Amino acid sequence: MKSKRIDIIVPCYNEEQNIEAFYEKVRAVSSQIRECGEYENSYDFSYIFIDDGSTDGTLEQIKRVADRGAEELTAVKYISFSRNFGKEAAMYAGLRASAKGTRGGKPSDYAVIMDADLQHPPALIADMLKKMEQTDCDSVAARRVSRKGEPKIRSAFARLFYKLMNRYCEIEIVDGAVDFRLMNHAMVKAIAEMPETQRFSKGIFAWVGFDTEWIEFENVKRFSGETKWTVWGLTKYAIDGFIDFADSPLKFAGAFGGIIAAGSAVYLIVEIIKTIVMGKDTPGYASTICLILFFGGVIIAILGLIGEYIGRMYLETKGRPVYVEKESNIED
Ligand code: UDP
Ligand code: MG
Repeated sequence: MKSKRIDIIVPCYNEEQNIEAFYEKVRAVSSQIRECGEYENSYDFSYIFIDDGSTDGTLEQIKRVADRGAEELTAVKYISFSRNFGKEAAMYAGLRASAKGTRGGKPSDYAVIMDADLQHPPALIADMLKKMEQTDCDSVAARRVSRKGEPKIRSAFARLFYKLMNRYCEIEIVDGAVDFRLMNHAMVKAIAEMPETQRFSKGIFAWVGFDTEWIEFENVKRFSGETKWTVWGLTKYAIDGFIDFADSPLKFAGAFGGIIAAGSAVYLIVEIIKTIVMGKDTPGYASTICLILFFGGVIIAILGLIGEYIGRMYLETKGRPVYVEKESNIED
């Protein structure tokens, strides 16, 4: 029996009501794995909580859990941000910490990313580990098969987003995939080494490759509190994700311009011939104005589209860090 270490990475933003319950549930799963004797390896769980600039008592709760961990000989590490940088930044911080190792010496063999609100059932960790042992894959990811309890409009937009993503981006994103996944150290390291500052993890997981197995689960309601997503936030997330992984809108704009130019050339030749053969026609004022306005609009829209990409390049070239750490109990 080999002894393997797992880091449980938990991004937390205003989750004071959930931290303790979360720790307890995951701890129960870890003891159950140890006691059932059905696993090839033994697994030693440790935790990396990322307090993403919470304004409630999240950090205090994490510290309480860390004290409890110390009594139970469980490593409970945390990183606290100077402000709210978003879940992507929090996941990245956790993965970086795991890739480097939080306990001195060798880094952990595996990492699991999961939400703090218990919407990602901890019991699934046991299934993920079993699948990892049986299939010898690099990653086991969870996929939500129902969107029960979620507003209908959000589900509809999510579906549309996955359709567009898979059609126009080179990576494939599985519909219903959530940020709940078990990864081996090689994959964690690959992701932690991706330097981009504007991160879209669902795309990054697919982009880095590695053999991934899927586990399905039913949607679960939040343990306590409310979702952090607003309609605007979710829309922006979708657009960012799309632009991060697709350059097809730019190609489309180029192709569109080409078609218009070719059409205009044909039209010009027809007009010249018509003028030579039939003499000059009275020009149409309204149609000229309409065409000018239409193409003016198209050009501005395409410039705006190019601006979206340039804006992202601008931010990326600044090389700002993805997050700023204020406090942590991980020693360098
Ligand atoms: N989260 C975070 N930073 C944020 C927003 C969310 O770390 O700015 C965390 C949050 O605490 C939770 C996870 O990301 O652990 C998922 O957030 P939420 O439950 O609001 O999203 P949903 O489940 O509705 O997709
Ligand atoms: Mg949630």
